[in-house]
Amino acid sequence: MSQNSVLDKASRWIRPVIKKIHAYHVADASGLIKLDAMENPYQLSVDLTAQLQARLAAADLNRYPDPAASELREKLRQVMQVPQDKEIVLGNGSDELIQMLAMAVAERDVCLMSFDPGFVMYKMIADFVGIQYVGVSLTEDFALDMEKTRAAIAQHQPAIIFIAYPNNPSANCYSEKDIEEIISIAPGMVVLDEAYHPFAQSSFMSRLSDFDNLLVMRTVSKMGLAGLRLGLLCGHPDIIKEIDKIRLPYNINVLTQVAAGFVLDNAGELAQQAKLIRDERERLLEKMQALPGLQVFPSQANFVLFRLLEKNANDVFESIKQSGVLIKNMKADDGLLKNCLRVTVGTPEENGAFLAALVSAMKNE
Ligand SMILES: *Cc1c(COP(=O)(O)O)cnc(C)c1O
Repeated sequence: MSQNSVLDKASRWIRPVIKKIHAYHVADASGLIKLDAMENPYQLSVDLTAQLQARLAAADLNRYPDPAASELREKLRQVMQVPQDKEIVLGNGSDELIQMLAMAVAERDVCLMSFDPGFVMYKMIADFVGIQYVGVSLTEDFALDMEKTRAAIAQHQPAIIFIAYPNNPSANCYSEKDIEEIISIAPGMVVLDEAYHPFAQSSFMSRLSDFDNLLVMRTVSKMGLAGLRLGLLCGHPDIIKEIDKIRLPYNINVLTQVAAGFVLDNAGELAQQAKLIRDERERLLEKMQALPGLQVFPSQANFVLFRLLEKNANDVFESIKQSGVLIKNMKADDGLLKNCLRVTVGTPEENGAFLAALVSAMKNE
């Protein structure tokens, strides 16, 4: 059989919605200062790294992991202050939890709702599982547009509403009052995606008991363990029980269970790093706000969104990259992200290099 006909046999079954998707693109950062992906720039201390290596060396790689990851879940409950009467399901990153939630509701005519501009995975995963995605536009300053939101909820009756808190890519936390209203009028579940919690320090975790349809999602990625792939979804036991049925039995591997458990026992070190990043964010915001030709948006996360008011964002992005710093180009010619770039808060040295590259890019003809 020719190569082509083999491919045709596969291709004719691939859903059109999948063929249309642009694969999630991860930029090549080799040789560049990496300020594009909201990673924590700090590594663990030498002392903790040595202890961690010993733990990993002792891990039973020949055995399947604990399918429930019970020990790890209890540590997460303590560190993240999950209320005792709520349940937790773990995911291979919070991306996998979004996927489990979508799979749990995926029926014809079911809709998943979030806000635009927002986190791209909500829409991508809706496409993967074949359900509709509705993105309600934010206002110009990235607040929830409650009039539009009320109308969209009434019209589309979403099974799940995802609210990133703080939002990515705008870095702000929405009004608590607006969120409470959305949870109250939603006909289904509302997921508060608190991926940036270590930098925001406001949370709906303690509000879980106020709303049975509320779920709070966290991840260890942005706090310094992006390589482990570990997220958690917290909420009413009756809901979590159903989501947990969709979870593949060994989704949290042995090394992640060991490493995350160890680092959580030493969570103070990550908390210190988060404090450094928050302080550094304030310094970066101040310096950027002092630059002419920029609109800098407020941030309660570990990144800053900004708009070029005179220069072309693509040119500035390329010039900054030429200087050796990779940030994120939002690639918008119009709309709310028009001419915007996004930079992750790094170490003082990295941020210094970014600021110098930005200043020089803005000077270029
Ligand atoms: C980065 C990010 C996540 C992804 O987290 P993982 O746990 O690494 O999969 C989830 N939600 C938002 C809003 C994010 O920005």
